[in-house]
Amino acid sequence: MPDSYDVVVIGGGVMGCAALHYLAKMGVTNTLLLERDTLAAGSTGRSMTILRMHYSNAITTIMAKESRDVIADFESETGHPSGFVNTGYVFMVEEGQEDALRTNSALQREYGVDSQVFTPEEASSRWPEINFEGVPVLAFEPNSGYADSSAVTNGFALSARERGAKVQLETNVTGIVVEHGRAVAVETDRGRINAGAVVLTAGPWIPEFLKSVGAPLDLSWVRHQVVKLHRPLNKIPTHPIIADTSNGISFRPDAGDLTLIGIREDPTDRDTYNQSVDSSTAADSLEYLVMRYPAFDEAGWDGGWSGLFTITPDHHPVIDLVPGIENLVVGAGFSGHGFKLSPTIGRALAELVTQGRSTSIDMSPLRFTRFAENDLLGSAYGASVFA
Ligand SMILES: Cc1cc2nc3c(=O)[nH]c(=O)nc-3n(C[C@H](O)[C@H](O)[C@H](O)COP(=O)(O)OP(=O)(O)OC[C@H]3O[C@@H](n4cnc5c(N)ncnc54)[C@H](O)[C@@H]3O)c2cc1C
Repeated sequence: MPDSYDVVVIGGGVMGCAALHYLAKMGVTNTLLLERDTLAAGSTGRSMTILRMHYSNAITTIMAKESRDVIADFESETGHPSGFVNTGYVFMVEEGQEDALRTNSALQREYGVDSQVFTPEEASSRWPEINFEGVPVLAFEPNSGYADSSAVTNGFALSARERGAKVQLETNVTGIVVEHGRAVAVETDRGRINAGAVVLTAGPWIPEFLKSVGAPLDLSWVRHQVVKLHRPLNKIPTHPIIADTSNGISFRPDAGDLTLIGIREDPTDRDTYNQSVDSSTAADSLEYLVMRYPAFDEAGWDGGWSGLFTITPDHHPVIDLVPGIENLVVGAGFSGHGFKLSPTIGRALAELVTQGRSTSIDMSPLRFTRFAENDLLGSAYGASVFA
């Protein structure tokens, strides 16, 4: 393996692999992605992979719409499947959030998303099996769904490798070498690798790298649990994805009779958190589901898992060059909703490397310095995963 590349990518989650793909597509193929474990071993492999387009800002709406379209037709982009399943997405809000939902839904339509606003009465006649009690208004996106995190991550990586990029697993990056305001190499447990530019997509493990190059970023972690249920297929063959801002719960169907419920955001230690699901959380989620969707009273709990959301102060990511280092690009802090945005983020990271700025979509609202400038991105539902 050579010890010098035009670009070195640190971290093989969906973001690093997407960046590698778009670099290759732009003709930059003397590239190396370094992953200390296997691809999708971090937050990506633990994701619920929901692709919704309901957001509070133009930039995230545009990213979600474009990214959804890429993942829904992933073979055209990468030559590989994404496992996209079109279920539709029902987004419920609580009292007091009616205006926010209507405003956001209008924003979605402005950018080409089919977003329909329903009163609870209209929704009840469309989905008589769902209990809309306490929901003043909701939005429905018929074109949303979910995908397979491993397929998308590996699809991006394979597409890049087919164009000449290299992926090296089981290699721990221990540092970024910066000289005269430029990243010139990375240090690994297998030795030094020289780099013309570095893309930092190490997920929850980004803070140490940024601190070591003198550009700290305020990131924190929460543990999000995913409860797995078997639903009675004779009563619920499938169902749309449903999200509820009143308690932060989202649930979606999965293969066969499985339904996955995403629940709770508890501050945790990044390296020692409990990666399984709590029985009390499973009981809470089942209780909620039976209230919202009574036929789930025959569902059975079958374990689950937990993963990390890496959170920024405004629950939006940072996509930028690291201040003071002209060829170090970072994609950090996806705050629990990054998977759905990965194609547009990967493309932006590649543009930052090749052109010094993101040209397809202006990513300046997601700039590194916005926290110091006190110019945070707002969210209609407060700083949360619903962003
Ligand atoms: C439970 C859960 C549910 C989620 N649900 C959704 C959802 O429904 N929809 C959605 O859009 N998003 C969702 N997300 C968020 C989404 O999964 C993440 O935003 C996204 O996967 C982040 O990808 P990443 O590549 O930045 O990070 P990661 O996937 O964490 O990848 C970082 C990689 O870097 C590697 N690495 C770290 N340090 C080093 C090092 N020193 N050397 C080499 N390699 C290193 C790690 O091993 C890891 O593979 C969810 C996340 C979780 C945890």
